[in-house]
Amino acid sequence: MEKDCLFCTISSGHTNTQFLYENETIVVFKDINPHAPVHLLVVPKKHIRSINDLKDEDREIVAELTMVAKEMAKKAGVSSTGYKLLFNVERGGGQVIFHLHLHIIGGWNKNG
Ligand code: 5GP
Ligand code: ZN
Repeated sequence: MEKDCLFCTISSGHTNTQFLYENETIVVFKDINPHAPVHLLVVPKKHIRSINDLKDEDREIVAELTMVAKEMAKKAGVSSTGYKLLFNVERGGGQVIFHLHLHIIGGWNKNG
């Protein structure tokens, strides 16, 4: 856990943020400022600053992020209509929280 990291604090259960899913390595919760009807964040418990900082040993975490995102999209009802999976990388890429997270964004149009 990194000192003063918001997503370390949230993912370790130290806030009242509700998890839609949790396992040993990952938590999923709603984005506080949603950009779409469905906007979830898939967050590893391990502190990794961004995609740029991934190490070989993090391969399993990245695979897990994707698989959990797929399941959560299904649970949120956007699988068939479609959705975006997004990593913002560093400031120029729109990242403001420097703890790796995968956005699931969708639910605009039920007809796809
Ligand atoms: P980034 O731009 O770093 O990829 O995305 C960070 C996201 O975290 C933003 O969409 C923002 O709304 C969300 N966020 C920031 N602070 C909090 C918080 O305290 N709780 C939750 N649930 N989401 C947050
Ligand atoms: Zn962190």
